[in-house]
Amino acid sequence: MVDAMQALVRLGLNRGASGNISVRGDCQARAGLWITPSGIPPAELSAADMVHIDHAGTVTGPWNPSSEWRFHRDVLAARPELRAVVHTHAVHATALAMCGRAIPAAHYMVAAAGGQSVPCAPYATFGSQALSTAIVDTLGATLRACLMANHGMLAAHETLAKAVWLAEEIETLAHQYVLACQVGQPQLLDAAAMQAVHERFAGYGPGARHEEPLS
Ligand SMILES: [Zn+2]
Repeated sequence: MVDAMQALVRLGLNRGASGNISVRGDCQARAGLWITPSGIPPAELSAADMVHIDHAGTVTGPWNPSSEWRFHRDVLAARPELRAVVHTHAVHATALAMCGRAIPAAHYMVAAAGGQSVPCAPYATFGSQALSTAIVDTLGATLRACLMANHGMLAAHETLAKAVWLAEEIETLAHQYVLACQVGQPQLLDAAAMQAVHERFAGYGPGARHEEPLS
């Protein structure tokens, strides 16, 4: 988690102490979730600073959890297949969120977030239950990322490394979309084109090579 927080800074996705991440607890004694502490810059973090929250809401650790612990807890609770959540105020994703804009299917990599677009969750006060509910509702059953109106963005995945990768991908897509809007009117992929991308992604990744000839 320390490495991931510092990677977010290196990747230009996070500044100061605004971002936060969580990881689902694995072992029986530490079920619940681990989350970054409130208000400590990534460069000063160590593993001992991480905060644990169990299913009863009991907090263990030297510091208060991130003020955004509610949406970390609720996303992990709503989506058992997701094991890590990354939240940042990355510049281009946040610029779109400041306008209440989604990232539409202007690039096929939008499918990496699990749907046809990267939607923008409605605004609610940071740290509030209303914000958590808005994010969980926006992600629904399948999306792994969303923008957060007038605030930032969130990406979640099966591992922390994949969640950091997705956060970087969402910021890249936001940057590309903002530039494309300056060039002209981005042309959007239709539902069938995005479905074809999802089908490709389902069979994508490292694996044994097939013996059939390429076609
Ligand atoms: Zn935030």
